[in-house]
Amino acid sequence: EIILEVSHLTYSYENAHEGEALHDVSVSVSKREKIAIIGSNGAGKSTFFLNLNGVLTPREGAVIYRGKPVGRGKKELNSLRKNVGIVFQEADNQIIASTVFQEVSFGPMNLKLPREEVTERVEQALAYMNIESLKDRAPHYLSGGEKKRVTIADILAMKPEIIIFDEPTASLDPVNAAILEEVLEKLEKEGSTILISTHDIDFAYRWAGRLLVFADGEIIADGAPVDIFRND
Ligand code: ADP
Ligand code: ADP
Repeated sequence: EIILEVSHLTYSYENAHEGEALHDVSVSVSKREKIAIIGSNGAGKSTFFLNLNGVLTPREGAVIYRGKPVGRGKKELNSLRKNVGIVFQEADNQIIASTVFQEVSFGPMNLKLPREEVTERVEQALAYMNIESLKDRAPHYLSGGEKKRVTIADILAMKPEIIIFDEPTASLDPVNAAILEEVLEKLEKEGSTILISTHDIDFAYRWAGRLLVFADGEIIADGAPVDIFRND
């Protein structure tokens, strides 16, 4: 069952000297897939993710969610953002609320959900990440590992159908690596669809069911890790 597609997606930044960040990228994502995305810095991975969740909109081509091309209207882009959540590598630096509970509430509040549902979702997300006990704490003073948990809870509270981790394995200390593995295992059990960009080839090989290799704004390989790494 295909839930998300990009079709002939081309993207260039306004201020780009270097031309297109993505060129004619097409790919379909099925429900429950575990996709790792590799490629050197500047290959277009982040730009791809931002188009997938409607923060950026294609210059050419389309993003198609559940069979429907996503338009450029605010409503449609918001709805895409609700379904495709991204955990950014630097999210820890963007925590601004004065309590953990407030921080995790922002997303569901922006969805204009009723107050009780916001509360319920925040409590669920905190429980999922084992941080219920932190709910009244000031995020600023949490440990690195605790902040990481909060940033993932932020996204989980949106209940996205597809969850994307942008380089979560970059410079992970053992605590954060354990947190990531624990979260991935739980998400997989629940049937989430997961995309992860990474420079960690061992991780990609071990974890992913499918690998997308980006180079210079294009997908140059797409398949099972064993097939892509087979050297013949
Ligand atoms: P990756 O995530 O694989 O490192 P990016 O998607 O960040 O790659 O970058 C793809 C290309 O787009 C690179 O050439 C990069 O310099 C350029 N780029 C990324 N973000 C911006 C931006 N905000 N403004 C201009 N160019 C950008
Ligand atoms: P840091 O190394 O950043 O200080 P901590 O070791 O303090 O992070 O961990 C942050 C929180 O996450 C603590 O409440 C800790 O009990 C919890 N924690 C850490 N690793 C795990 C794990 N693998 N499973 C469950 N909870 C964990």
